[in-house]
Amino acid sequence: MDINRLPKTELHLHLDSSLSYEAVKKLDPSISRQDFLDTFVAPPKCNDLNDYLKRVEKQVDLLQTLHSLKLAAEGLLEMLEEDNVIYAEIRFAPLLHIRNGLKPHDIVETVLDTFKNAETDIEINLILCNLRYFSEKQSLQTATLVKDFSDRSVVGLDLAGDEKGFPLDNHIAAYRFADKHDLHKTAHAGEACGPESVRETLEKLHPTRIGHGVRSYEDPNLLELLKEKRIHLEVCPTSNIQTNVYDTYADHTIDKLFSEGLSLSVNTDGRTTSNVSLTQEYKKLHETFGWGEEQFLQCNLNAIDAAFITGEKKTDMIQKIQHGYMGHG
Ligand SMILES: [Zn+2]
Repeated sequence: MDINRLPKTELHLHLDSSLSYEAVKKLDPSISRQDFLDTFVAPPKCNDLNDYLKRVEKQVDLLQTLHSLKLAAEGLLEMLEEDNVIYAEIRFAPLLHIRNGLKPHDIVETVLDTFKNAETDIEINLILCNLRYFSEKQSLQTATLVKDFSDRSVVGLDLAGDEKGFPLDNHIAAYRFADKHDLHKTAHAGEACGPESVRETLEKLHPTRIGHGVRSYEDPNLLELLKEKRIHLEVCPTSNIQTNVYDTYADHTIDKLFSEGLSLSVNTDGRTTSNVSLTQEYKKLHETFGWGEEQFLQCNLNAIDAAFITGEKKTDMIQKIQHGYMGHG
């Protein structure tokens, strides 16, 4: 099995945690690869999610011009090509890039245009994120951006950031707004906090997908609820080991969640912060849990089923995936 060649989908991928060395070198030609690794890659074991998020900050610091955002998008596209990704939903928080006066609309437009103008067969859509600490007004502003660009490949709203430190309160209005305008919704939960956080997120924000959600495994009733409501989990194993949700890769619940029949996909979260590609993530699953084509195919079909695209596009993607897995066994 040539894991690299298998067609892949990625639903949970942050632009601001996936800055390539080549992109940074264009911004600062003096930076060595070692400097890059020291500055932007988080250690394999951070204290917790907040410790990890501090490393992301250094990438956000660089992404305060339209030029740097364009380079980041181009660099990420190259990484997706190397992994043989055929469909990706890339997320970022426009309001994190306005420190030097950029306008949120221009930020979204630049990232969109970079992907649209690229010579690639990869289908890419964008998800816009709120951070937990955002005010209700900021949160609504992001939801409004999703609506404004909903006819141009911005396909959904997300909530990311410090799950432990900030409640959902400021974000309920934005998710209601999304409901009202038929916008797709996902939200990070069940990463730094346990199953109660996943439940609360489902009850208050009504997303169809949960970013991570891996600690749902601690509550069998919640697993039943996730199956009943067909909630998809965007699982990012390496990132969870790094943020200390689990001690080692072998301790991760992904294999158990998969065996339980949950709809889940495999994702990198932040390719640079976690120093991982999607191919490497698949290889780890193969080595640790013995996953092969059967599991990878299922995860990719799950991802397409849960993707924020039309039924017609889904059919198209499913064909591409099935074709890619035939004859590789
Ligand atoms: Zn994430």
